[in-house]
Amino acid sequence: MSEPMPAMFVGHGSPMNALETNRYSRAWADLGRAAPRPRAILAISAHWYINATAVTAMAKPKTIHDFYGFPDELFAVDYSAPGDPELAVEIADVVKPTWVGQDTDSWGLDHGTWSILVHMYPQPDIPVVQLSIDASKDADYHLNLGAALAPLRQRGVLILASGNVVHNLRQLDWQQPDHAYPWATEYNQAATQLMGERPGDITELLGHQHHNLAAPTPDHLLPLLYIAGLAATAKAGTTPATDGYAMGSLSMTSHLLGLA
Ligand code: ZN
Repeated sequence: MSEPMPAMFVGHGSPMNALETNRYSRAWADLGRAAPRPRAILAISAHWYINATAVTAMAKPKTIHDFYGFPDELFAVDYSAPGDPELAVEIADVVKPTWVGQDTDSWGLDHGTWSILVHMYPQPDIPVVQLSIDASKDADYHLNLGAALAPLRQRGVLILASGNVVHNLRQLDWQQPDHAYPWATEYNQAATQLMGERPGDITELLGHQHHNLAAPTPDHLLPLLYIAGLAATAKAGTTPATDGYAMGSLSMTSHLLGLA
């Protein structure tokens, strides 16, 4: 493989984006058309946030509906992409000496992954493996683990990290569906600048004056660190895409690596 596969962080927002046709879901469909067809997808979703580093290693991962209070139609979504047990083993091998567990029965594909993939690859025929986000580890661990995944890009694997740079559900403001608080835009812009210019320094964000408001829990921010690690390894910056905000305290910005 001559050109490395793209890697990307996608801001996923509400699970309803899986069903809706809006500016975000249209942009995700465009990403699927713009990227070369991958051999497999490695998804790193904010919603598999556990006290371990693991990959899904089952042949047929189940679609997980990890939310409450949404319409039946959303619970009916079945993204039946195959797994890739061989890739799961390959991932564990490539990041050694970091230890990665093989999950054969607990997880599957959560909505951080499938709410994007139903638009990006509506035909669920590309194998998907998920990597958990280890809640017990510090920011440098995630940045370095992202960097360690770099060889997979040369082997036809598209890396999709899914979260939101700004994600504060307690501050949601339903009066401003497409706008953000000033602190949210300031923090989001700082992230975009770091990702574009100095992705290896992305952990500076944790010292930003609005960090505790923008990321009161780290789960939705940490997927970004994996793409930052990959960008730093590639000595490249990421390109922001699908910039936008939802309900005051969510940013929907995506960050693309190796995809103009
Ligand atoms: Zn989410």
